[in-house]
Amino acid sequence: MQNMEISESACSGDKAAMFFIAALKNYKRVRIGKVKNINGREMIKVKLSDSIKYIKGVGEKRAKIFGKLGIKTVSDLLYHLPRDYEDRSEIKNICDLIDGENVCVMGRLTGFPRSFRSKNRLTVTQAAISDGTAVMKITWFNAKYVENQLRGDCDFVFFGTVTHRGQLAEMVNPVIEPYDGKGRKTGRIVPIYPLTAGLSQYMVRSAVENAFSCLDEKIKETVPQDIRKKCSLISTEEAMHEIHNPTNFDNFRKAKYTLTFEELLVMQTGIQMLKGSREKCYCEAFSDVKCVAEFAKSLDFELTNAQKRVINEICGDLRKNIPMNRLVQGDVGSGKTVVAAAAMFAAVKSGFQAAMMAPTEILAKQHYKTFSKMFENWGIRVVLIVGGKSKAKDEILEKTAKGEADIVVGTHAVLTESVKFKNLALAVTDEQHRFGVKQRANLAGKGKNVHTLVMTATPIPRTLSLILYGDLDVSVIDELPPGRKEVKTYALGENMRARVYKFIKDKIGEGRQVYIVCPLVEESEIMEAKAAEEYAKSLSEGDFKNYRIGVLYGRMKAKDKDAVMRNFADGDIDILVSTTVIEVGVDVPNASVMVIENAERFGLSQLHQLRGRIRRGVHDAFCIMFCSSGGEVARERMKIMCETNDGFKISEKDLLLRGPGEFFGVRQHGLPELKIANLSEDMDILKMAGLAAEEIIAKDKNLENPENQNLKARVTARFEEVGGRGILN
Ligand code: ADP
Ligand code: MG
Repeated sequence: MQNMEISESACSGDKAAMFFIAALKNYKRVRIGKVKNINGREMIKVKLSDSIKYIKGVGEKRAKIFGKLGIKTVSDLLYHLPRDYEDRSEIKNICDLIDGENVCVMGRLTGFPRSFRSKNRLTVTQAAISDGTAVMKITWFNAKYVENQLRGDCDFVFFGTVTHRGQLAEMVNPVIEPYDGKGRKTGRIVPIYPLTAGLSQYMVRSAVENAFSCLDEKIKETVPQDIRKKCSLISTEEAMHEIHNPTNFDNFRKAKYTLTFEELLVMQTGIQMLKGSREKCYCEAFSDVKCVAEFAKSLDFELTNAQKRVINEICGDLRKNIPMNRLVQGDVGSGKTVVAAAAMFAAVKSGFQAAMMAPTEILAKQHYKTFSKMFENWGIRVVLIVGGKSKAKDEILEKTAKGEADIVVGTHAVLTESVKFKNLALAVTDEQHRFGVKQRANLAGKGKNVHTLVMTATPIPRTLSLILYGDLDVSVIDELPPGRKEVKTYALGENMRARVYKFIKDKIGEGRQVYIVCPLVEESEIMEAKAAEEYAKSLSEGDFKNYRIGVLYGRMKAKDKDAVMRNFADGDIDILVSTTVIEVGVDVPNASVMVIENAERFGLSQLHQLRGRIRRGVHDAFCIMFCSSGGEVARERMKIMCETNDGFKISEKDLLLRGPGEFFGVRQHGLPELKIANLSEDMDILKMAGLAAEEIIAKDKNLENPENQNLKARVTARFEEVGGRGILN
């Protein structure tokens, strides 16, 4: 049943009102009230959680377009912040105008505007205005309608770029608005919003404006009163108004600071609560971690000092009865696998099971092979679980459930319901950036208070790991095994293609193998597959007719992928054309050349990860990046790749050049993007917010006090978004 209260005025019987009511019924509104907007028209009242389709001027159809920007509710719209502003606040005298400046002028027409057709068949409309100090000429092209806008005996404001012809000031196609003392398009700082196809600045601006004027509730404060005072924040409501419609730049800065602080406080509070909730639970301490030394001796190489240090840090955690939650960062090839192996060894020797999850089947199988061999002489039983059904798999599941398997290696498949453990005590996820926070948590959920270890090759600048992994302890393997060579890297243009092809042929002649990473196709996996197939075909029909060419892409059946990888590893393929699926961890030491097409379209960290594939062999390695775009930033990025093989340096530069928005993409880290804060600028606010979060939690660790309820709601919402682990229980 709908519970409609229709206000008196809406029932006055005239047609418009009836139409209005009918429209409302269509919307299945539960609650109806009205307010007047700036023009005196009536609008429906809305709540922050309402759909934006109820905002005047939005409606069902436009709401869908907004949806493409992730804007669904009124609150989403208000948090859709301007990406930039145009300062149209200054109104100047015509006699003081300077060539080239963007400025507003207020004046009166000296006569009726005049329109005519120019030689090149444009409609030209011209007018002259005067403000008492001088006269300015104004010209519009193909805008005869302005004649109507300029009717009336009143002052107008014009915003545009000033030029001078002799003494006479001129503006072409200025923005116009009648002067009524409350300018909307002129005489103020105008917000410029991120758009999508089908939306104009005007539509977003008026939607935001209408949202504010028909908002039927107060915007609540997130930050408790005492902290707001201490950190000099303005009220959220004020900040929201200022950020969309700055009255001056000073107020704008205060607003931005306030909203940034709020966002980071939510983030920091959530992260610290995660950490706190972990410290509250107990697990069994591993009884035997010393045995790891024996394991290290059994390896056919000497561990690097960095590996030893990190293994010690891990063992330190495993000895405690608080679950470990550690991130191991190490550049491609730094030897993370053996570090994970050491931890799993300790788990098994202490009488528990361990599991390791890898993002691709190829990688899971490689780990399975590695571990089977490593643990062969220790009587440790390793099994592999991937997707699909088979009798063999059923047996493995049974063994795992009964505790007859000690170490389980697998893909996402280990997360499925059917996989049960007897006593899982350690969960390792490899190449973390491929998994979200949620999946990491799910694997841990397969046991009771499981120790978790996360391995990543995407090096996060140290200063920033705090915000991303604040709930994790971080270990860094900052040393490569001895004898590793740098990959010689070149960024080349099309004009070098023939020489590169000759180089490839020479290298194959020497017995080497080659990867070619084909152009990035982002639309869909189907498109990507097609692009890879076609690319390989063009090579095999063109320059590389007599060579053995293989193709590898994400959508292939696991069986086919394996076959291709095996053929490549066995040396039966000369050139492997691939998408970025080879990004994660498989070793083919004989492959020493990699060509990357359209390299400028990849992230630097990803390029680094890709070339890591050819860093492992004994042969000199060459990475050749073809770049078609010659933009300044693109060139700078390619230069970094050619200059260094240090993953940390690369990611830090990447962050500087691309900005954190892209760097912290959801895909990379499983955390939502920050909407307001900019981590390369707002480190100081981050620190303050961190301290404030500590202070709040110290007094009220579960956010139960009334003044913390709004904060609690936002933290919960934010962390649910990323698959929170029930931090607020
Ligand atoms: P990643 O950190 O990229 O996962 P891996 O763990 O796959 O790197 O190690 C890369 C290669 O280096 C493997 O073949 C591994 O056996 C070898 N390796 C690891 N540690 C050492 C070491 N201390 N000395 C020599 N080789 C090592
Ligand atoms: Mg690895």
